[in-house]
Amino acid sequence: MPELPEVETVRRGLAPSMEGAVISRAQVNRPDLRWPFPDRMSERLTGARVNRLGRRSKYILAELDSGETLIIHLGMSGRMTVSGDPIGLFHHDHPAPEKHDHVVFDMDNGARITFNDARRFGAMDLVRTEDTDQHKLLAVLGPEPLTNAFNSDYLAERLHGRKTLIKAALLDQGIIAGLGNIYVCEALFRAGISPKRQAGRISVSRLETLTAKINDVIAEAIDSGGSSLKDYRQADGELGYFQHSFQAYGREGAPCQRDGCTGSIRRIVQSGRSSFYCPDCQT
Ligand code: ZN
Repeated sequence: MPELPEVETVRRGLAPSMEGAVISRAQVNRPDLRWPFPDRMSERLTGARVNRLGRRSKYILAELDSGETLIIHLGMSGRMTVSGDPIGLFHHDHPAPEKHDHVVFDMDNGARITFNDARRFGAMDLVRTEDTDQHKLLAVLGPEPLTNAFNSDYLAERLHGRKTLIKAALLDQGIIAGLGNIYVCEALFRAGISPKRQAGRISVSRLETLTAKINDVIAEAIDSGGSSLKDYRQADGELGYFQHSFQAYGREGAPCQRDGCTGSIRRIVQSGRSSFYCPDCQT
């Protein structure tokens, strides 16, 4: 499942082909993904210019000159591809349609944006741009990493008195938006905090470290996604799924990479999700 950095990479990959361009044709091949599409979606999108392609957490927000914003969520398996794009970054020819191509936008600059989603956990909705923050999917989100609103004072206040485990608290999108299992594991590893620690029992100074490490992990992942975009010239135009190098996630049994630590990475299951951590140096 794409996390915040992957979605940001997708946004950056789409922006050159979509920003400033008009959707000259919006092909909607089925009535729904996870939820029904908004009424008359194709008509409302056709002829609209994309003024700006933004992002909130894991949602891509296409602000249209019609006064509406298209909210796009990739879900578990959603993929967006660019073909025929005007800047020549991706495939120039349009590939043959595939089975799960549910929504296809043809832009007036020649780019084609295809949304393919085999499992259909993705979503699209249209909302008046000034109401975007109040949309049911977005209104519940906490601040996201790398913003001023996300800082150690905020985190200390939200975690104060909480008996839930820190792993679960960091996955709570109402506390921090955009963090998923992979980057929570990585941030806790770097901060030296056990995923089994109670959220409300972490000192303020350790929360400062944790805040900084969350920001580092997310910034590095966005950078590595951005740098891999240029490697996609010869690829199929698919955006957003890159192999990052992780220090804890997926490394069960491997030696801990922290200087001076002789432990190894262990995997445990918490709330049905795998946590990877080093029991020796994460306390
Ligand atoms: Zn260790």
